[in-house]
Amino acid sequence: MGVSFIPADEVMEPVVASPGFEGFEKRLEVEFWDPLGFANPSGLRAIPRNEIDTMLSAAECTIVSALSNSQFDSYVLSESSLFVYPSKIVIKTCGTTQLLKAIPLLLKSASFISLEACRCKYSRGTFIFPSAQPSPYGNFNEEVVILEKYFGHLGNGGKACVMSDASKMHNWHVYVAASEVAPLSSETYTMEMCMTQLDRSSAALFYKSPFYRSAADMTLLSGIRNLLPHSEICDFAFDPCGYSMNSVEGNAHSTIHITPEDGFSYASFETMGYSPSMLDLGSLVDRVLGCFKPAVFSISLSTAGLCHSQDAGSWGVPVCPRGYVCSGTTRHEMPGGSFVVYHTYTRILGGDSTVMPLALFPALEKVASNGYKSKNSEASLKPFLYGVQPLRESGGAEVIGPTARDMDSFIRKKIQSTGREDAFYVLDLATVTRLWKIWKSAMPRVHPFYAVKCNPDPQLLSMLAALGAGFDVASKAELEAVTQLGVAPRNIIFANPCKLPSHITEAAKAGVVYTTFDSEGELYKLKKYHPQAEVLLRFRADDTGARCPLGVKYGAEWDECYHLLEVAKTLGIKVAGVAFHVGSGASDVNAFAEGIKAARKLFDMAESLGLPRMTMLDIGGGFVSDGGAGVKFAAAAYEIGNALEEHFPRETMADVRIIGEPGRFFAEEAFSLAVLVFGCRVRRREEGNKTVVEYWINDGIYGSMNCLLYDHATLSVRALPVASSGGGSSGSSSGSDCESSSEDEEDDAPLLDVELHPSIIFGPTCDGLDTVLSDVWLPRLQCGDWLVFPRMGAYTKSAGSSFNGFAVPDATFYVHCGAAPEM
Ligand code: PLP
Repeated sequence: MGVSFIPADEVMEPVVASPGFEGFEKRLEVEFWDPLGFANPSGLRAIPRNEIDTMLSAAECTIVSALSNSQFDSYVLSESSLFVYPSKIVIKTCGTTQLLKAIPLLLKSASFISLEACRCKYSRGTFIFPSAQPSPYGNFNEEVVILEKYFGHLGNGGKACVMSDASKMHNWHVYVAASEVAPLSSETYTMEMCMTQLDRSSAALFYKSPFYRSAADMTLLSGIRNLLPHSEICDFAFDPCGYSMNSVEGNAHSTIHITPEDGFSYASFETMGYSPSMLDLGSLVDRVLGCFKPAVFSISLSTAGLCHSQDAGSWGVPVCPRGYVCSGTTRHEMPGGSFVVYHTYTRILGGDSTVMPLALFPALEKVASNGYKSKNSEASLKPFLYGVQPLRESGGAEVIGPTARDMDSFIRKKIQSTGREDAFYVLDLATVTRLWKIWKSAMPRVHPFYAVKCNPDPQLLSMLAALGAGFDVASKAELEAVTQLGVAPRNIIFANPCKLPSHITEAAKAGVVYTTFDSEGELYKLKKYHPQAEVLLRFRADDTGARCPLGVKYGAEWDECYHLLEVAKTLGIKVAGVAFHVGSGASDVNAFAEGIKAARKLFDMAESLGLPRMTMLDIGGGFVSDGGAGVKFAAAAYEIGNALEEHFPRETMADVRIIGEPGRFFAEEAFSLAVLVFGCRVRRREEGNKTVVEYWINDGIYGSMNCLLYDHATLSVRALPVASSGGGSSGSSSGSDCESSSEDEEDDAPLLDVELHPSIIFGPTCDGLDTVLSDVWLPRLQCGDWLVFPRMGAYTKSAGSSFNGFAVPDATFYVHCGAAPEM
C-alpha cells in the first residue's frame, strides 16, 4: 500500500518567527591519549553518565536517545549528536547552543581517567542567523581565542582558517591543534555535508503528520535508511518538525540533522570512520542529495591520524553530482599531518538565488501615498512623513536575502557601484518589523515608546511611527524629529527628568504633556513653563549589573518620593503616573519585576495622599534583542508579564496605560556599519615571535565606536575583501599610501582560502586611545578591503564626534532582509 502524505504547502507552518532555527552545527572533535598508561581500556566510554549530562548541560543540550555497539556509544541530543569512542569524542550541536562551554568539563572528566587531549578539531559553517548566536559564536576569531586557551599548548599551537567558495558566501571555519608527542592514531576520514534550501516536498516529510508520525517512518520514506544500508540506526522526530539520527557500523558512525522549515531549511550529513576503500563517496553523496535535493550544499572532507596519502587524495577529488556546479574547492594542510578539503556546489537548474531582485520597500511606499492609520496611535500619520526623505528618493530599500552573506554582497555592490571611500551604515527595515512583532506578542500590555536618543535615524523613526510606536524624547531636537512625523502628542513622553526651560516651552507648544521628574526643582519649572504637564515620578530601580547604570544620576530615592508627590499636589500639577529605568543593557530580569512592584506601592502612596488615581506606568528601557549582550528578551518579558498581572491586574487596573522606553531593543541589531581599511602594517611581537597585522579604518572611537567607551559595547567584526578580491573601490586606489609589507604579493591574490591572523584595528584619529579592537583574528587584508561591524545601531552614530575632522558616517542605505514585505 502506498503511503499518502500532505503536500508541502499544507504541512509547512508559516514562517512568522524569525530568526528561525539555526541548523548549522558547531562540531568539536577531541582525541585523547594515555601518557602514563594507567587508563581504563574503555577509555572515555568509562566517563559516568552524570558527568556526560553535566557537560552537555553546559553546552545547553540534553540526551534524547542512545545507541551503542561494541566499539563506541552514540547519543542523539536535543540539538544534534554526541559520539564517545574510547579515545575520541565528537560533539555536534546546532541552534544557539554553547558548545565551547563543554570543553573544560570534558577535559576534567578525561583527566579523572588519566587521559589527556592530544588533538582537537573544531569546525562550523556560516550561520544563517549569525546575530542570533550568543557570544563568542558567530565571530570565529573569538571562538579561536577560546580554543587556543584549551588546546593552544598542543604542538606549535592551533591553526585556524576560513575556507570559502568563489562567492565567499559559504565559509567553512576550521581550527585544528595537535600534539607532536602523542602517537598518531590510525587513519580516520570524515565527510560533512551541509545542505540548505531543501526541496519543499522532501523537507515536508520531516513534519509529524497524521499519516506518518514516527521517526522510523521518516527514516524509511525519506530514503535515509538506504544511505548506509548495513548500519544500525537510532532516529528521533521532534515536535512539530525536525529530525535527527545516528547510525553505527563497526567503528564508523554517521549522523543526520534536519531543520525542515521553509525559509531556513537545512540538513547535515556526516560520516566518520569509513575508509575510502569501503565507501564509494560519489554514490553516497548522490544518495544523500536524493533525500533532500538542496539548492546549495557543501562537502568538507578531512583526515586525522596516520593517513596514506593516496587514499587521502582520492577523498579530496571533487565529485560533481549531476545537476550541480562546483563553485569552489580549497584544501588546507592542518597540524598533525591532517588536511581539510572543502567543496561548495550550487544547483544549476531552477536558478534559485538567495538574493532577491531589487525592489522598493512597499510598506513605507504605502504610507507615502495613502497616509497610514496606525492601530496604536491616536491620530493618523500625516500623508507623508515631513522632513524625512521618501525612500523612493533615497534609492529605496532593496530587498535582499536573509543572511550575513546577503548583507555582505549588498555592501560590496554599494562600494563597487559608487566607488565610495566613506564608511556607511545599512539599516535592515525587516529587522525593525520583526522586533516590533516580537515585542507585541511577548508584551502585549506594554506600548513601546522608542527612545530616540539611541538612534535618531529618520527612516527608523518613520518605520516605528508607521508601526504604531510612541516615542521617548529627551531634548527639543528629538521632540522636533518626532512631531514632524505627525506622531500624536499623547504618544510622546519627554522622558528627561531635568529639562531646560526653553525645551519645556517647546513641549508645551507641541501639546506634549507627559514628562518625567525626580526633583522638587523640576516641578517648579514645570509649573512655570508648562502648567498643563502631566508628570510621571521617576524613581530609582537599579539593575546593578546593567551595562550602563543610570541610577547615580536619575530616579528619586524611595524616601524622597512621598515629599515629591506632596509638592506636586500642592502646586496642582497632575501626577499621571510613575516611571523607572533599570539601566541600559539590563542583566537581571528581577530588576524589572522589582520596579513594577515598587511602582504599585507608589500608586497606592499617591492615593493615600489624596491624589487622583494614577493612570500611567512607564517601565523604561534596558531591553536587548536576542544575540546582544544582556538579559534574554523572552525571559524579561515573561517576568514583566507576571509582575504586571500581580501588581497591576487587568481586572482591576485595565485603565492604567503601560508603556516602555526601548531604545537598544529596536536599533542595535538593525544597523550594520561598513568601514574602509586604508592602512596596514605588519609588526613582529616579542612574545611568541608572532606577527600581528595592524589596520587603520575610517571610523573609530571618536565616531561610531564611541560605544566602546560610553556604552561599554563589545564589538564583533567580519572581513569584507573588496580590493583583495579584485573588486576596486576608490579605497583600493589609495593602496599606495599604505606601508608595504613583505606579503604584498599575497595581498593581490583573491582571498579564497583564508587563514586568520592576530590583528589590531585602529580608528583614523591621531589619538592612541583610538583603538577599536586590539586582539582580533582576521584574514590578511589590504588597503581597499572593508570590514563589517554588525549590531551597530545603538548609541553609535548618535554619540559620535567629528574630532580631528573625521565625521561620523552620514550615509545610511536601507534594505529589507528576507522575503519581500507584505503589501
Ligand atoms: N529611557 C531613558 C530615560 C533612558 O535614559 C534610556 C537610555 O539611557 C532609554 C530610555 C533607552 O534605554 P535602552 O536603550 O536601554 O532601551
